[in-house]
Amino acid sequence: MSTYARPAGLDEALALLAGDGAAPLGGGTDLAGQVDRGIREPSLLVDLRDAGLGAIDAADAGLRVGATVTLAELAASPLIEPYAAVSHAASLAASPLLRNAGTVGGNLCQHTRCWYYRGEEWHCWLGGGDTCYAQIGDHRRHNLEPGDCISAHPSDLAPALAACGAVVELRSASGARELPLLELYRRPTEDNRSLLTLAPGELVVGVRLPAPPDASAYERLGERAAFSFPLVSVAAARSGQETRLVAAGVANVPRALDPADPMAGLPGNPQTGWKRRALETLVERALAALA
Ligand SMILES: Cc1cc2nc3c(=O)[nH]c(=O)nc-3n(C[C@H](O)[C@H](O)[C@H](O)COP(=O)(O)OP(=O)(O)OC[C@H]3O[C@@H](n4cnc5c(N)ncnc54)[C@H](O)[C@@H]3O)c2cc1C
Ligand code: SF4
Repeated sequence: MSTYARPAGLDEALALLAGDGAAPLGGGTDLAGQVDRGIREPSLLVDLRDAGLGAIDAADAGLRVGATVTLAELAASPLIEPYAAVSHAASLAASPLLRNAGTVGGNLCQHTRCWYYRGEEWHCWLGGGDTCYAQIGDHRRHNLEPGDCISAHPSDLAPALAACGAVVELRSASGARELPLLELYRRPTEDNRSLLTLAPGELVVGVRLPAPPDASAYERLGERAAFSFPLVSVAAARSGQETRLVAAGVANVPRALDPADPMAGLPGNPQTGWKRRALETLVERALAALA
């Protein structure tokens, strides 16, 4: 059984998160479902609503987005308009109700949607068990990169923010650091099954964007046009001579692609050949939109 706290500021939140088994709570749209199904059992849920992380501010030539800004607030902000890929990704994620509750920090740190990981009846490798049931079972929606876990990264925001050069700001009770957004993610290993590089008690407090790119675009394929997770998505951004391409749905993590050879290192599994074709098409569209 989890207990609940709603600290009145960031320092208090960080002190609570330093406790064993505490977990940050944004909008709860991902975490509540996991707790409900017994997939996770945090000892303490630390509600971030009053932690002072809810602002979007112009910063230097770019932008700073607080971790508890909701997806709806981000999508509606005029400040995000010059980052077309991010604005589009935020407006496509989930549904209006979920965007009103789901936060930027929670969206970036949400867990995989792999149906075995989410199912009460399975205890798969990523969850600490011995078997990746997807690899011996249904992996139509899984990724293209071989590994112990073939789950696909689910966030719409992550590839869009990464293509636009975002940096995440992290805080814990013992200090602060920042990382290029893609370094927030890791492929899980035998001795550390986490898909995030966050240390225990560490919190995403915000995301910083540099000056807007000259052009950016976000393309995604979902089961439906709305109210459905991206199965494959691609963000592209061009600044001067440099083009950055980042995809989700094709690896454990949001994955940078080489614009000259986007499929490199993505062989696919028996049931995911369709994702290769989808990725090729989405890359083509995203790059064409930069012209
Ligand atoms: C039906 C459905 C459809 C969805 N469709 C999409 C979609 O199309 N695209 C998409 O991108 N997402 C989709 N989502 C996911 C949804 O966007 C996320 O659940 C939401 O953004 C998570 O934000 P939250 O604030 O509710 O996170 P929470 O549920 O509060 O937290 C999620 C995880 O992040 C951790 N966390 C929260 N805040 C922080 C922080 N600041 N620092 C570190 N860790 C933190 C929590 O401990 C938890 O592990 C969907 C979800 C549902 C239920
Ligand atoms: S793909 Fe990953 S999350 Fe899914 S069953 Fe395999 S180990 Fe578990």
